[in-house]
Amino acid sequence: GNFVPPIRSNGGNAGNMTSRVAGKGDDALDDSTKRCLDMLCGPDGELPEKLRNLEPRLIEHVSNEIMDRDPNVRWDDIAGLEHAKKCVTEMVIWPLLRPDIFKGCRSPGRGLLLFGPPGTGKTMIGKAIAGEAKATFFYISASSLTSKWIGEGEKLVRALFGVASCRQPAVIFVDEIDSLLSQRKSDGEHESSRRLKTQFLIEMEGFDSGSEQILLIGATNRPQELDEAARRRLTKRLYIPLPSSDARLWIIRNLLDKDGLFKLSKEDTDTICKLTEGYSGSDMKNLVKDASMGPLREALKQGIEITKLKKEDMRPVTLRDFEDALQEVRPSVSLNELGTYEEWNKQFGSLS
Ligand code: ADP
Repeated sequence: GNFVPPIRSNGGNAGNMTSRVAGKGDDALDDSTKRCLDMLCGPDGELPEKLRNLEPRLIEHVSNEIMDRDPNVRWDDIAGLEHAKKCVTEMVIWPLLRPDIFKGCRSPGRGLLLFGPPGTGKTMIGKAIAGEAKATFFYISASSLTSKWIGEGEKLVRALFGVASCRQPAVIFVDEIDSLLSQRKSDGEHESSRRLKTQFLIEMEGFDSGSEQILLIGATNRPQELDEAARRRLTKRLYIPLPSSDARLWIIRNLLDKDGLFKLSKEDTDTICKLTEGYSGSDMKNLVKDASMGPLREALKQGIEITKLKKEDMRPVTLRDFEDALQEVRPSVSLNELGTYEEWNKQFGSLS
């Protein structure tokens, strides 16, 4: 019903173009939407084929809210996960940097799944891939497609893949991908979510077969919910586990060092690492935040007013601060859950 016949443009006027593709008069579009569409036009002033027929406000939403021009995460910001970093570099970064070499039998898969407990760095890896491969990063949470964009998810998915194909190389990161591609079909499944899933798989199929420089990364804490079709398209599946003891120490040091607060001895850090077994990267961040409040709380307890407090008078963060913080910040992942990830990794993971 949305079909709009293609009309040849005389060129040069993106504003007119938008009025045809969107089926709306130019006047109906506000300046920011026009600017956004103008930026997506080719040198001939025409909007690329894939974006015609799409609603301008959805294109604008993708460009302004989902697209992140500067994800600003590098490999060096991510603690541990050396093996995953190495594999990702070979499997996805090199092919994005050198498409001329990675073709034919070297052609890469276009779908990568990162699975594991929450807060272990999956999103960071997605951003770092985009940063290292000099690609545009698109982030969307699949659950927002079904909750926030009720009835419009399909259109948004088309706009997402359409804009990504104009911004190649591109990395599309779909968080909680299980909520989009889960195997829980059946009676309960709404017609709209089935259509959304189909649209998503069609879009993936589209760039998988072509020469497009688009990588889709799905992230999930519930890999067991993914169905066979999803697994087939996400050809590489990397387990992103909880941080090792060394990685936990790295996170502590990195965060405290930024503010010149790291003064812990080797014995202290050994103790903290032992006590934080089972903590995720994100738990560690919360722990460090809480511990770093220790010296401040103590100074205030001694009656010093916050406005009069001098930074140089505050004591460094100690083991005691961490012990107190450990009472407040508990690990968010249970041992039980870890077993499920490891099982799934053995069965479907790329590096089991
Ligand atoms: P996920 O996507 O796996 O749920 P995120 O990548 O969003 O987790 O991580 C959440 C936060 O936790 C990050 O912003 C970072 O501060 C911290 N974090 C998690 N894992 C790591 C890690 N391996 N190295 C450094 N920081 C981490």
